[in-house]
Amino acid sequence: QVQGEVRVRFAPSPTGFLHLGGLRTALYNYIFAKKYGGSFILRLEDTDQSRLVPGAADSIEDMLEWAGIPPDESPRRGGPVGPYLQSQRLDLYSETALQLVKSGHAYYCFCSPQRLELLKKEALRTGQTPRYDNRCRHLRADQVHEKLANEVPHVIRFRLEVGVEPFQDLIFGWNRHEVAEVEGDPVVIKADGFPTYHLANIVDDHYMKISHVLRGSEWLISTSKHLLMYRALGWQPPTFGHLPLLMNKDGTKLSKRQGDIFIQSFQRDGVLPAALLDITTNCGSGFNTNRMGRRIDELISEFNPSKITTHSALLDLDKLPEF
Ligand code: GLU
Repeated sequence: QVQGEVRVRFAPSPTGFLHLGGLRTALYNYIFAKKYGGSFILRLEDTDQSRLVPGAADSIEDMLEWAGIPPDESPRRGGPVGPYLQSQRLDLYSETALQLVKSGHAYYCFCSPQRLELLKKEALRTGQTPRYDNRCRHLRADQVHEKLANEVPHVIRFRLEVGVEPFQDLIFGWNRHEVAEVEGDPVVIKADGFPTYHLANIVDDHYMKISHVLRGSEWLISTSKHLLMYRALGWQPPTFGHLPLLMNKDGTKLSKRQGDIFIQSFQRDGVLPAALLDITTNCGSGFNTNRMGRRIDELISEFNPSKITTHSALLDLDKLPEF
């Protein structure tokens, strides 16, 4: 049962335009918010400045509005705490990273890109998965101070502990991924001072008081890492629900290279938004019944999160309903 104030978010990276997979994630969040009297928030995760696509951020919001699922709080609208553009909240991430360093959960890493490259090459040569060897975990405080004083370029890494606790995903059930056994300590603040996805994502979910994180199942494997960070910060994590992927009807992956999956192309071709929302939900699960031709208010009333299964949704665009 869903209890308490519901606040969900759609958190795309503006590294590309909105496509069907993104629309579907946004739609489930929208429906979940409306069903339980909550808020649907748009947050643009623009921390990877090298991959930003000009115009994508604005266009994502335009497309959500066009589709009839506008966010309640967004970069454009501002919000009680907004605007929700990560590049404008850098202080928050640095403060949190410093808090982690102080409490011993994170550390400065001065390893050069050349050293990391060598590590990677060596791993590949010996048939292993490349991972950082956590060398800078063991630096003494005076060594760290000296390097910082000399302005040696550095990143901040989160110290992964073993002993991950299992969590119950709304859709995939009990999960646990012992990250420390397979990954090196992840970077949380990059050399350019920007946070990485993992840190910015949990800091924002916390400060935005997100109650439920509904996102694509490709993030399921990252959740244990996120939970380790919540624990290190002493924060209460949200509830997680990972949505099965949207695939082509033949079971192949929807690819951004297929130009026809972008929402802008549907808009340009005169497809009705209601038809698009209907087909992206009908091919999957999460509703008391499946039938074509439902409008958004019907989708909301027939939505039943306990019916979302782990099976991929297979999309058949030839079956777009008429309205
Ligand atoms: N920025 C991530 C993405 O592009 C968000 C993942 C999440 O919702 O936590 O998919």
